[in-house]
Amino acid sequence: MRLKSFSTYGFKSFADKTELTFDKGITAVVGPNGSGKSNISDAIRWVLGEQSAKYLRGSKMEDVIFSGSGKRRALGVAEVTVDFDNSDRTLPLDFEQVSLTRRIFRSGESEYAINKKSCRLKDIIDLMADTGLGKGSMSIIGQNKIDEVLNSRPEDRRSLFEEAAGIAKYRLRKKDAVRKLDDTANNLTRINDIRSEVD
Ligand code: ATP
Repeated sequence: MRLKSFSTYGFKSFADKTELTFDKGITAVVGPNGSGKSNISDAIRWVLGEQSAKYLRGSKMEDVIFSGSGKRRALGVAEVTVDFDNSDRTLPLDFEQVSLTRRIFRSGESEYAINKKSCRLKDIIDLMADTGLGKGSMSIIGQNKIDEVLNSRPEDRRSLFEEAAGIAKYRLRKKDAVRKLDDTANNLTRINDIRSEVD
């Protein structure tokens, strides 16, 4: 699966419709400070389902909508679409190309679509889970995250490596299994108590 293109309208500094295509290999985006480079990764994170305004460097979700400039009025809607080459069928959909769209209005109302068909946020999150691009994955690392890694305690840094290596989910499953074992042990003790009362 490969990110092929990105287009947006009204997202943060992108007041005009903007389209980027990503060829095979490495793409570098360069530009002066404050020109909107990080807004591209914010937009990709957003369309993939990010729900935290803080991680998008805002205080509320409407902050992602173009808020106006000296010459332009604020917009009422922001929209982002990303297209993935799915010829290897990494995404469990029988399409060569999969596009994801997210739209937000100033009223706070949100819309999501997969291949232009309206869907729920959950559908996008479920679709991206286990692709390495899903919620909480390490595929998009912001500048603040790098500071966080450098300044974090060794045990917190270890959890980041575990997340990146895909081990974190097994730790969660282990925790779940240990809890179920504890519940079962408690149930057994209770049954033994009842049995000895009956005997
Ligand atoms: P640096 O190189 O310093 O990290 P950058 O190129 O990554 O900068 P961004 O952080 O992506 O820049 O963009 C910051 C710009 O986006 C600022 O000029 C800011 O005013 C603008 N911006 C952010 N949110 C909005 C919004 N909702 N409406 C209009 N402009 C916005």
